[in-house]
Amino acid sequence: MVDVLANWQAVRDRIAQAAQRSGRSPESVQVVAVTKGVPVEGIAPLIDSGIAAIGENRVQEALAKHEAAEWRERIEWHFIGHLQTNKIKQCLQIADLIHSVDSVRLIRAIDRRAGAMGLEQVPVLLQVNVSGESTKYGFIPSEVPKVLEEVISCQRVAFQGLMTMAPYEEDPERTRPVFRELRLLGEKLQEKGFPHFEMKYLSMGMTNDFEVAVEEGANLLRIGSAIFGA
Ligand SMILES: *Cc1c(COP(=O)(O)O)cnc(C)c1O
Repeated sequence: MVDVLANWQAVRDRIAQAAQRSGRSPESVQVVAVTKGVPVEGIAPLIDSGIAAIGENRVQEALAKHEAAEWRERIEWHFIGHLQTNKIKQCLQIADLIHSVDSVRLIRAIDRRAGAMGLEQVPVLLQVNVSGESTKYGFIPSEVPKVLEEVISCQRVAFQGLMTMAPYEEDPERTRPVFRELRLLGEKLQEKGFPHFEMKYLSMGMTNDFEVAVEEGANLLRIGSAIFGA
């Protein structure tokens, strides 16, 4: 059996070391435990253990777990997968943060739906496809400023930062330029200053590369297999 608490402690130690190496405080880095494929009973030991949130990439699975988990109110629920417009309503019912907003059409649809549901603000991150891999969702970095201008009227959508997925690399060191580029993009956006954009979260780093992500400024890591096993 997988000891998720022992795994979580080991991940936490590695984050603390990476933070120290780069002169950051370990407390400035939060972890979203990616629970796709993990049953509710498997997640339970992590609740109240210092995990910031759990992350799901399918709306149906997230809803089912949300309904089944008696601890549902004790943790944040983050959505990290590609969101189809016909699932927005259900997603908004439970998500505290959507990491994976990847099109203008989706932003407009979230804004409309939030209005219909009477939600004041929906916190989201813009997913950026830094590496340019055709298999990955996300905006290309250079179009992000234009996107933010285009959706300025979507006042129910609160842009709180950026998310990226780096390509898998045998040597995680090779992901560093991807993470660095996302951080620099965030700094640029902050400097430009958009009224509805706050550079609060840099969501990057997964099991294979989270230490490099911490060194490059990530403050929200999305970690699955290092905690729950492969
Ligand atoms: C599955 C997934 C993760 C976690 O991946 P691990 O390598 O298991 O840590 C992170 N982000 C997204 C978007 C995912 O789908």
